[in-house]
Amino acid sequence: MPERVVFTKAALQEPYAQQILERVQSFNLPVEELSGNRVTGLRGESDRDTYNIAKRTLAVVTAPPSSFKLSPIPPSADWQFHIAEGCPAHCQYCYLAGSLSGPPVIRTFANLPQILANLAAYEQPGVPKTFEISCYTDPLGIEHLTGSLAECIRYFGTRNDAYLRVVSKFDAVDKLLDLPHNGHTRMRMSVNAAPVSGRFEGGTASVTSRLMALRRLALPRESGGGGYPVGLVIAPIMLMDDWQMHYTQLLDQISEVLDMNCDLTFELISHRFTPGSKEVLQTWYPQSKLDMDEAKRSVKRNKFGGTKYVYHADMMKIAKHFFEVEIQRRFPSAKILYWT
Ligand code: SF4
Repeated sequence: MPERVVFTKAALQEPYAQQILERVQSFNLPVEELSGNRVTGLRGESDRDTYNIAKRTLAVVTAPPSSFKLSPIPPSADWQFHIAEGCPAHCQYCYLAGSLSGPPVIRTFANLPQILANLAAYEQPGVPKTFEISCYTDPLGIEHLTGSLAECIRYFGTRNDAYLRVVSKFDAVDKLLDLPHNGHTRMRMSVNAAPVSGRFEGGTASVTSRLMALRRLALPRESGGGGYPVGLVIAPIMLMDDWQMHYTQLLDQISEVLDMNCDLTFELISHRFTPGSKEVLQTWYPQSKLDMDEAKRSVKRNKFGGTKYVYHADMMKIAKHFFEVEIQRRFPSAKILYWT
């Protein structure tokens, strides 16, 4: 629950904002209506204060015109789009540190109907296209306040060739189970080995709760589930001491919980960081024990000249092989979509 909810002037003019307003008021949260469109009052006396204030603020805003031009997001999906930016959790490796700038306030977009209507331009008749919704937020983490994820799932359920991809570290899936998704939304949970989830994933649901939620999403409707295609995103994979043992335990736990037939995929993402994300994360989590020692990593450059630090190629090869074999052994009909 945020401590502060603000609506910008432009957001309040959007009919969809009323739905968010009603939800927020149903939780008795104090609401501020801003006279303009800039969200202010996020800065504290220290970086740490700013972080705390921002993370506890939900700002209902309108998505800027630039967000209507979608970007591809390989290897996860054909396109990414955003219904919100920011997340209430506190993962010490958070991906958002490298992609969003400024205080980590949670912004949710009140012009959702326009955002969804815009997606049609990126569909191609007869060619399935996938749309990732979770690049800049954890959509399930704020769903109780916005209802926006449910809107998206309903919308994709009506499309012929468009498929929604969702990933989360939260478990409040009750309201999603009965939605008419029509098999067009793949619900994925991001999970990790105990030393990573226990130490670095503050404010999220436990891995056990995430897996139980995924089970409910995957179970057929006649068994009380949601009948969704589902997936596991194991990320970020950290090659700490005894990593094989810890990830073996995770995979065993997954196979115990998902002990039924279901449409299941795996995505495997090794830990990486950039100079920029490291700097931001060290400001947000100054006491963190997260290993971001450049000397232990290889440098990978992208086509725009950006640098990221990844595990050395020999370790990557061993880890990739380990996951492929161990997943195949436990889930012979699941598909591994990629390792990166
Ligand atoms: Fe960042 Fe995802 Fe953790 Fe939220 S759940 S803090 S977006 S890594």
